[in-house]
Amino acid sequence: MRAWSIGRMAGIPVRLHGSLLLFLPLLAWTSVPAGTGLVGMSWGCIYAAALFGSIVLHELGHSLVARRQGAVILDILLLPIGGMARIAGMSTRPRDEFLVAAAGPAVSLALGAVGWFSAPFLFVINPWVGIVADGLGRTNFMLGLFNLVPAYPMDGGRIFRALLSPRLGAVRATRIAATVARVVAVLFAARAVWPWFHGGQVRIFLLLVALFVYQSAGAELKRTPR
Ligand SMILES: [Zn+2]
Repeated sequence: MRAWSIGRMAGIPVRLHGSLLLFLPLLAWTSVPAGTGLVGMSWGCIYAAALFGSIVLHELGHSLVARRQGAVILDILLLPIGGMARIAGMSTRPRDEFLVAAAGPAVSLALGAVGWFSAPFLFVINPWVGIVADGLGRTNFMLGLFNLVPAYPMDGGRIFRALLSPRLGAVRATRIAATVARVVAVLFAARAVWPWFHGGQVRIFLLLVALFVYQSAGAELKRTPR
C-alpha cells in the first residue's frame, strides 16, 4: 500500500501509510463516548489526529538525536501500529544507540505528563478540550512505558542491547536481545488472544505488535552471525 507525504517537521518528510485512511476514522469513532453525536465525533477526530501528532513527536525525538550524531533521516512513516523513523548511517556506538532509542519514550513520557497535569485546568475552560488532553496524556504515558518493554526492535529492546553490548560485544548482545524479544512477543500474543478464550475480543493491536516483534527479531537473529 502506498504512503502519502503530509508535510515536513524539522526538514524531515512525514508520510502517512494508506491503511491509516481507514484506521484513523476508526480510532476517532472508538475513542468517543457513545451517544455524544456529531460533536463527540469531531472531538474524536481531533483526538486521533493529535495522537498521531504525538507519535510524530516521538519519532522526531529519535530522529533529532540521530541527526546530531551524523545520521541522515530519510522520513518518518506513520503506520497503524505506530511510527517509524527511517534512518541511514546510524552510529553503532552503544552509547549513541542508547541515546537515540531513549529519546522517543522520553518524548512520550513528557507529553504524557503535560497532558495529565494540564487536563484538569483545560477541563474548566472547555470539557471536551480537557477530555482530549486527559486521553492524550494517558495514551502517551502508556506508549512511553510500552515502548520501553525490552522487545527488540522496539525502543526498550534497543536500549537493552546497547546496555549489553559493551560487556558482551555487539553480536552476543544482539542475539540475546532478539531472543528475549521473541519470548516477549509470544507473551504479547498470548495476552492478546487470552480474552478470546473467555468470550471476549482479541486485542488486535497487541497481536499485530507481537507478530511484528517476533518477525523482526527473527530476521535480526538470521542476520547475526553465530
Ligand atoms: Zn520509538
